[in-house]
Amino acid sequence: MYLYIKGMETKKQTLQAQRNKLIYRISKLNPWIEGTVVTTTRICGKKNCACHGDGPKHPVMYVTWKESGKTISLYVPKRLEAEVSKWALNYKKLKEMIRDVSNIQKDIVRLREKR
Ligand SMILES: [Zn+2]
Repeated sequence: MYLYIKGMETKKQTLQAQRNKLIYRISKLNPWIEGTVVTTTRICGKKNCACHGDGPKHPVMYVTWKESGKTISLYVPKRLEAEVSKWALNYKKLKEMIRDVSNIQKDIVRLREKR
C-alpha cells in the first residue's frame, strides 16, 4: 500500500515537473499576436503604376482574426512582416502549450480520483 501511494506521488511529481517546464517555456515565449498571417497581392494607389494593368500586383501581408463572428484584417507594414510572422507563430505555440498544461492538470486530477 505504501509503495502504491509512493508510486502515485512520483507520477504526480513527474507531471508537476513537466507542467512547470511548460510554464517556464511559456514565460520565455513572447511577444505573441493572435491571428492568421495571410499574404496576398493588391493594387496600389498610384494610377500610373503597372499593377493597374498587366504588371505584377504588390505583395502584402495581413493578420486576420475573428471578433464576435466578424473577420478582422490588420495590414502589416513591410518592415514588420518578419517580426509579425514570428509573433503569430509564438501565439500558435502558446496555445499548444496552454493546452498541454491543461492536459497535465487533468492527469493530476485523475491521479487524485484514483486514491
Ligand atoms: Zn502599384
